[in-house]
Amino acid sequence: NENKLQAIIAHAKEYGFVFPSSEIYDGLGAVYDYGQWGVELKRNVRDYWWRWMTQMNEQNIVGIDAAIFMHPTTWKASGHVDNFSDPMIDNKDSKKRYRVDHLIEGFAETLPQEQGDALIAEMEKLIAADDFAGLKTLIETNKIKCAVSGTVNWTDVRQFNLMFSTEVGSVAEESNTIYLRPETAQGIFVNFLNVQKTARMKIPFGIAQTGKAFRNEIVARGFIFRMREFEQMEMQFFVRPGTQKQWYEYWKEKRREWHSTLGVAADKYRFHDHVKLAHYADAACDIEYDFPMGFKELEGIHSRGDFDLTQHQLYSKKKMQYFDADIDPETGKAYGNYIPYVIETSIGLDRTILMLMSEAYTEEDLSTEEKQDSRVVMKFIPKLAPIKLAVLPLMKKDGLPEIARELMDECKQHFKCFYEEKDAIGKRYRRMDAIGTPFCVTIDHQSKEDQTVTIRYRDTMAQERVHISKVREIVQAAL
Ligand code: ATP
Repeated sequence: NENKLQAIIAHAKEYGFVFPSSEIYDGLGAVYDYGQWGVELKRNVRDYWWRWMTQMNEQNIVGIDAAIFMHPTTWKASGHVDNFSDPMIDNKDSKKRYRVDHLIEGFAETLPQEQGDALIAEMEKLIAADDFAGLKTLIETNKIKCAVSGTVNWTDVRQFNLMFSTEVGSVAEESNTIYLRPETAQGIFVNFLNVQKTARMKIPFGIAQTGKAFRNEIVARGFIFRMREFEQMEMQFFVRPGTQKQWYEYWKEKRREWHSTLGVAADKYRFHDHVKLAHYADAACDIEYDFPMGFKELEGIHSRGDFDLTQHQLYSKKKMQYFDADIDPETGKAYGNYIPYVIETSIGLDRTILMLMSEAYTEEDLSTEEKQDSRVVMKFIPKLAPIKLAVLPLMKKDGLPEIARELMDECKQHFKCFYEEKDAIGKRYRRMDAIGTPFCVTIDHQSKEDQTVTIRYRDTMAQERVHISKVREIVQAAL
């Protein structure tokens, strides 16, 4: 619900997870900056995905880091120049621009169920047929109003390409126009043979990449759900033609397994199979998460056939073939040369962060008969939490900071720690709860006598006295 999203946005800002971009200038639409704890959370998720793909996976997967700028022909070949667009319409009075599907869907929600469904079905038919005049008529006959000015004064519907463009070098010539990549996948496709040859990869194998992508989203809503600058984590898995169905099922299951290790309740996920497929795809599904705004796409898994490599072969005139020396049992001969088929898994890092924050965010009422009390705690699993351990001397004197510093120096070699000696201990605990630190350790006078400290567990708030030499082990065991 809207309230929960607002609470998460406010919390993210107050505790240094996510700030609006260039906030002192009133921000920039759908662009955000990650603060001191957000960046740690994001790194942890990215690193975990990376290790899971390139190190822990039973399949043969290596990574690359391709440039954001690519030769302009890349985007001709991939279809983005011609097809990566949404139908838009402007309201002449308010000068507001709308995505046609969002405008009509928003209106359909105000209608009785059956009528709304019929309208959406009609819209989908028109969009599939690129019938822009029909879409405009649909908007006009339903007298759909502009949310801002309340008028029905619309321009024609037209396509709006979502790629950002800029110029290379100083002269603005048509040929100098390049794009900010709208997805990371193409960097993998154009390097397919470089990687295959230099790493001597045998099919089936994968190439993974994480990095920024840019889309000039018209309707940017839902905080870091839909951004103009965002980060993707993509893996393209190259397989022998004819085996794609089995690999598609394999990756659906594997990705489900990955998600099951993030501390997110299984019933908050669902798989949504695409009914309408791109002409080249033979299967596609989304993994959806129940965000505060409802179930929405988090990750896509697509069986893309040989579309991408074939297109690049066509446009670059370079062979994109692989030689398969394995013997085909049916013919008794090697499989030989072919363009591999591709299974893609593509997940938004920022959407994953929004999921983890939505899942972790917990308001707890701690009131007793004597007093009202509450806390907000971010229940991240320890391996993803921005800080693993807070070291908190009870007082700034009597040698307690020295003991604390010594513990810090030992632990910070192994995981992210945080040191703080200001404020009442209760207040310090609450701040650590708010950023999701799973363990706090307090050093008091007894610590000087018997080398024990108090360890406090975030979720239960239980406290326990342990020998100082045990602290590192306890935290590491949880990671
Ligand atoms: P949507 O339908 O929500 O626009 P999409 O189907 O266009 O998404 P893909 O092109 O399949 O998305 O991109 C793969 C993943 O990248 C998505 O599942 C999503 O997690 C992420 N992603 C796409 N667009 C954005 C965006 N504007 N902001 C943040 N993440 C995004």
